[in-house]
Amino acid sequence: MTERVEPPSPSREGITVESSKYVVIGAGLVGSATAWHLASAGQEVTLLERDVPASNHGSSHGSSRIFRFAYPDETYANLAKVAAPLWSHLERESGQSLLQQVGGVDFGTERNPRQLAAVLDRVGVEHRIIEIDEARERWPQYALDTEVLWQPTAGVVNPAKAVDAMVGLAAKAGAQALTGWQVASVTPASTTGYVVTSSRGEQIHAAEVVVAAGSWLPHILPRLPLPKGFLDALPTFEVRQEQTFHFPYEKPREDADWPTHIHIFKEITTTRMVYALPGGEGVENRALKVALFNGGKVLPSAAQQDGIVDAANRDWVTRYVERHVPGVVPEPFAESTCLFTNTPTEDFVIERVDGITLVSACSGHGAKFAPLTGLLASGITTGNGTVPDAFRVQR
Ligand SMILES: Cc1cc2nc3c(=O)[nH]c(=O)nc-3n(C[C@H](O)[C@H](O)[C@H](O)COP(=O)(O)OP(=O)(O)OC[C@H]3O[C@@H](n4cnc5c(N)ncnc54)[C@H](O)[C@@H]3O)c2cc1C
Repeated sequence: MTERVEPPSPSREGITVESSKYVVIGAGLVGSATAWHLASAGQEVTLLERDVPASNHGSSHGSSRIFRFAYPDETYANLAKVAAPLWSHLERESGQSLLQQVGGVDFGTERNPRQLAAVLDRVGVEHRIIEIDEARERWPQYALDTEVLWQPTAGVVNPAKAVDAMVGLAAKAGAQALTGWQVASVTPASTTGYVVTSSRGEQIHAAEVVVAAGSWLPHILPRLPLPKGFLDALPTFEVRQEQTFHFPYEKPREDADWPTHIHIFKEITTTRMVYALPGGEGVENRALKVALFNGGKVLPSAAQQDGIVDAANRDWVTRYVERHVPGVVPEPFAESTCLFTNTPTEDFVIERVDGITLVSACSGHGAKFAPLTGLLASGITTGNGTVPDAFRVQR
């Protein structure tokens, strides 16, 4: 769909200059969802990815993320309710199975299951509080410390498969996806719109640019022509190199139901959050994936990641499993790193200024909303939609 046109400024030999009404930077969950929605609406889109879609160095690789409705904040519970049918839509359109409903439990002295239940009552999502004795009987694989909130329609989404599905659907609708295309800068064009330049010097002219660069956002921000007032109003983006571990089930998985779990508790004076979910493709019947939320080191941006698992983190998670998850063998057989891009409030950012839309939907909980995030981002980019106030940059 992207046509070749006269370059907006003199081009050097060997450098391709193209034009696309919309350029989306980054083919993780957010960028691929945005490109899919833009292309499906008949827009001309080019998706640029420095590596490959769902890059192993980004946040959307692998095959398992928790899909849950339970949030203390009604905005996100409502958004999860809106996102659920969009996952079904994506599954139908792509012919892929992307969301597996295994149910979810939330518990712990600091998780407040009853407050979560009150939110789900208001939002209208099926749930039940299960008293501690009944819960211990039902899920003996956990050493539960409180009553639990049970959400039967929670589950696990497959991020890498979802990215592939959305890039495929975007391409089917006419979008162009370029891989190995690292955006080095975005500069105002001499006429109107922007020139997006790669690290190799290729250029694409765009009327509008969507930046969905995940944990590279702090790296790319200074390379975008954004007004100072807007930059000053942005929240701080904290990048963390997180780590996840796979522990083998004691018994075959068919002998126990393994819902996703979120456990928040006090360790002396520190509040800890641990999440766990059935491992994804390849290990789904063999292992539980467990991680300490925000347990990884802080980096300036994704550009500084080293992919090295921290031994102290591994030890902490292993000790947690020994105490709290008797249904698995406390010896991880696989581990990986992945990046969080956090805002101080854990709210997402979706904002447009002067034809540039910034989308940062992570804080460790963005995967479940992906098809909706893309819809919101494409809506604000084309001027045909709005986003929740919590995602706007207050100037
Ligand atoms: C360990 C872990 C566990 C998680 N668990 C959950 C969970 O259980 N539930 C949940 O809902 N969410 C979860 N999340 C969060 C969720 O995975 C993220 O919100 C989501 O993947 C963010 O996607 P993204 O597209 O913003 O970023 P990314 O997937 O990182 O995509 C950004 C892309 O931009 C590309 N890029 C960057 N700079 C450039 C450039 N200059 N030029 C071209 N391309 C560029 C990158 O290569 C990358 O592919 C988890 C995240 C992690 C890391």
